[in-house]
Amino acid sequence: MSRMPQVSFEVFPPSPKTEDRFWTTVARLAVLQPAYLSVTYGAGGSAKDRSDAVLRRLLRLRGPQPAAHLSVVDASRAETDDLAKGWIDAGVTRFVALRGDMPEMGAAFRPHPDGYGGAAELTSALKRLGATHVSVGAYPEPHPDHRGGDSDLAHLHGKFAAGADDAITQYVFEPEIFLRYRDRVAAAGIDKPIVAGIMPVFDFAKVSSFSRRCGASVPAWLDARFAPLADQPDAHHAAAVETAVSFCRRLQGEGVEAFHIYTLNRAELTIDICRDLGWATPARLREAAA
Ligand code: FAD
Repeated sequence: MSRMPQVSFEVFPPSPKTEDRFWTTVARLAVLQPAYLSVTYGAGGSAKDRSDAVLRRLLRLRGPQPAAHLSVVDASRAETDDLAKGWIDAGVTRFVALRGDMPEMGAAFRPHPDGYGGAAELTSALKRLGATHVSVGAYPEPHPDHRGGDSDLAHLHGKFAAGADDAITQYVFEPEIFLRYRDRVAAAGIDKPIVAGIMPVFDFAKVSSFSRRCGASVPAWLDARFAPLADQPDAHHAAAVETAVSFCRRLQGEGVEAFHIYTLNRAELTIDICRDLGWATPARLREAAA
């Protein structure tokens, strides 16, 4: 029997229209007692105010510990520091430090003339400002900006050298891709935790199109499994739970000790996945389902 892993969740800030549903989702996820709940940061700082509002309300609720995603795009160092400092003063201690993407889809990253150059510089700034835990991104499949060879590992090494405490991976659907990457990271002398990012297939068509944009491959077996289920929500849900559970079990069996579920603001799938993995007690699950 493997040890209970560290389990955390990611949510994105709601629009005004989905606000009520969002907080119901957060309350249900909170019952599972995740290690922390990370709140994404809109590309290029869009929806910054919404991240701010969600983080501050999470702190007031004294529910799951919030983690603030933050990127360096389109902001001067002073602006980034002010935002981070405001969150740290309010009680946010945990961050996910990202370079981020330009607001124009597919545009090459250009640092702001007075801004941080990337995630490593942001990581050291956050530590200097008082953050106690900083996670960074990691890419088991080459990121679209990958510069070839082992340059991605040298880059990851730089983020750890700047003070990152762990790295959360972009999701993959094949356990072997994650495991090979973990081996490459270890072989490069990096001994910090690599947290497995888990993307449940909440809607196969949407997940496929999003995966194409971020460079995550969608294996043919996943297509074959989900394509016939487009009009069968219950069967689609069951297949999504089953594929995520078997992926996580395989990784846990290989000694992976930390998982970060991209909940996409849906409680149901995450609850069912955690239930089947034995990552939540029945009493907690009953409360979450209520
Ligand atoms: P980096 O790791 O700095 O760069 C990405 C890749 O480019 C590297 O892995 C490397 O292969 C290559 N590269 C870049 N610079 C160099 C260099 N100097 N030398 C060598 N190689 C280099 N986006 C948002 O807008 N908001 C979010 O809240 C958000 N949350 C995320 C959470 C996680 C866990 C992950 C994995 C991604 C998230 N993203 C988010 C997406 C992220 O912003 C994009 O993937 C972005 O393109 C890369 O950001 P990064 O900090 O991971 O980049």
